[in-house]
Amino acid sequence: MILGIVVPCYNEEAVLTEAANRLGAFLRAMITEGLVDAASKIWFVDDGSKDRTWELIEQLSVSNTLIGGIKLSRNRGHQNALLAGLFTAEGDALISIDADLQDDIQVMKSMILDHARGVDVVYGVRKKRDSDTWFKRVTAEGFYKFIGVMGVESVFNHADYRLMSRRALEALKEFREVNLFLRGIVPLIGFKSSIVYYDRVERFAGESKYPLSKMLALALDAITSFSSVPLRMITFIGFSVFAFTLVITGWTLWIRFVTNTSVPGWASTVLPMYLLGGIQIFCIGVIGEYLGKIYREVKSRPRYIIERIVG
Ligand code: UDP
Ligand code: MG
Repeated sequence: MILGIVVPCYNEEAVLTEAANRLGAFLRAMITEGLVDAASKIWFVDDGSKDRTWELIEQLSVSNTLIGGIKLSRNRGHQNALLAGLFTAEGDALISIDADLQDDIQVMKSMILDHARGVDVVYGVRKKRDSDTWFKRVTAEGFYKFIGVMGVESVFNHADYRLMSRRALEALKEFREVNLFLRGIVPLIGFKSSIVYYDRVERFAGESKYPLSKMLALALDAITSFSSVPLRMITFIGFSVFAFTLVITGWTLWIRFVTNTSVPGWASTVLPMYLLGGIQIFCIGVIGEYLGKIYREVKSRPRYIIERIVG
């Protein structure tokens, strides 16, 4: 089996050489063990870095035949860099991993063994996050919970450390949307999948390239490209206001006609205010429902992926 290891890198000059050494030695060992083919390769994807990342990748690719490089024209973000790597790299299966090697590279062996047993997607899942700061841990786990509540199906505590078979990668190409949230798309592909667990360690050098702002952007992207829950919420609010108005109507009419304590013009001012407000929000919600449908159409996701045909 030819393996490709895809590593997105953004301003990673501090970790690149070490990462290349570790991954290179590991891949060579796997080739010697006969676990993977000698044509296997590590692909570093430079996501428009502003430092010496690409120069380093070029040098590494010259000095080590196991290393290749892909350079993006500018910074497009982690998800897009990853995608560029997954669509460009060759191999019967590809494993994606971050450049900082916070994810245990040893479990790649379990991933490959699972793949050999016919599993198409192997998810790497973090067991604990002791090494992360309290803030990173809370925000990251909050992230998975929040997108779950908003209707995005994803594997809890799985970042983008995973193995995908050639077949799964071809299916991934059928998803033509521009706002791609890989952790949500991959479960949609289906096929046989499995999970391997590992402990996450600290970055050995450099700083996180995922500040809170980028995490929030990712969460927003995940939610808006996977669910119409926010739109549906508008419909719900509109309907609630409308229902509330019906109650208010009774109350207003009662004050106006029964108690007769109302100021002239009060009922005719207050009622339309609530009524129109409710109807307006409700209508926006209805438009939102259609917008959601159009949005799903525009993305032109595949409606099904065939796993096998017999007979
Ligand atoms: N990354 C990227 N483009 C970006 C930001 C990050 O390719 O715009 C890469 C980065 O080089 C690393 C991976 O995405 O290989 C994950 O980033 P990081 O380790 O900083 O995230 P964290 O582990 O802190 O969540
Ligand atoms: Mg990291």
